[in-house]
Amino acid sequence: MHDDNPDWPAWIEASLADLDRQTRRRVLRRIDSARGPRVRIDGRELLLCASNDYLALTADPRLADAARAALGQWGMGAGASRLISGSMGPHHELESRIAEWKGTEAALLFNSGWHANVGTIAALCGPGDRVYSDALNHASLIDGCRLSRAEIRVWPHRDVEALAAMLEADARQPGRRLIVTDSVFSMDADEAPLAALCDLAERHGAWLMVDEAHATGLLGPRGQGLVADLGLGDRVAVQMGTLGKALGCFGAYVAGSRALIELLVNRARSFVFTTALPPAVAAAAQTAIDIAEHEPERRRRVQALAAELRKRLRAQGWTVLPGRVPILPVLVGDDAETMALAARLYAAGVFGVGIRPPTVPEGTSRIRLTLTAAHDEHDLDAILAAFGPGPNLTGRVAETGVSS
Ligand SMILES: *Cc1c(COP(=O)(O)O)cnc(C)c1O
Repeated sequence: MHDDNPDWPAWIEASLADLDRQTRRRVLRRIDSARGPRVRIDGRELLLCASNDYLALTADPRLADAARAALGQWGMGAGASRLISGSMGPHHELESRIAEWKGTEAALLFNSGWHANVGTIAALCGPGDRVYSDALNHASLIDGCRLSRAEIRVWPHRDVEALAAMLEADARQPGRRLIVTDSVFSMDADEAPLAALCDLAERHGAWLMVDEAHATGLLGPRGQGLVADLGLGDRVAVQMGTLGKALGCFGAYVAGSRALIELLVNRARSFVFTTALPPAVAAAAQTAIDIAEHEPERRRRVQALAAELRKRLRAQGWTVLPGRVPILPVLVGDDAETMALAARLYAAGVFGVGIRPPTVPEGTSRIRLTLTAAHDEHDLDAILAAFGPGPNLTGRVAETGVSS
């Protein structure tokens, strides 16, 4: 072997061994049944409390019916990028439906939330511009910031004063300013101070981009998200949301002005240089939006279940962060303890995923439980029994960097 050449296999082995040492090696768990509150893993049936299928739409037969009908009419694949081989009817219909739902002039589909965020931020900002990003923003927003090659300013989580000071300090700098934030944060379930962010954006001539991945389908009068819930639709220039979580499909969108969408069609590389979503996925997503809008009892039910589980877990001695969406972060703190608890839950038939750094800050490892509208009261009993009494009852209070 040439001395200057890195030994790839050895490097990979060492990297994996490193992860093992830190107990941070992740593995895939194979599921052998359709999604639902219960799934088959390793020949066992487990209560799944780890999906983002909040409205229980992934397995809804109406979505499959819509997809089947579209498959019959349009076939499987889109064949190419929409700019190359023509843009299919189902994509346009879904975009019109999203724009109507969100109350914007237009919307553009992306193949995932990841594509939407990296493509949009990099299309809007470049060298000489500034992107302001909440410290706990989703990885895809972070990567969008990096890819843009704009200057990145990270403000402490939800700290509006700190962001105001940053904008103030940059007030004389030339270039565009973009403020980006999750609306509901995926790991803490808390909400961005959107009204204050709108005020700041307006005062400083900045644009605000909001990622509604975990609020879509759950908040707002028609399930459109937190922006609509707070009545801020006219003040948020770039509204991104996903179709793969509460809506149970796949893909994502950006909604905003006609001009914004035209620019993204031309400049968002993750839109231009990728094969479009299968038309059947677009057809199913349209059905999913109809259901999310017209069956509000689904979001009410899952929110009520989550509130009940949060209350009972706390009464049992666990520290659970507050929130309106069905994400329950049960704080443990230590990595190894978190994974031991996850293993104990798994043995008891409850699949709730342990979340560790780098996904969350050091010292804030947790079990992230999520519920769906298809869970029921018996499932809550099973989850509570699997957890048993928590550290606040047993006297071993977790020391974490997150306050509840
Ligand atoms: C899941 C998620 C994404 C990515 O969306 P995908 O469609 O799964 O790629 C983006 N932003 C946030 C906040 C998310 O939680």
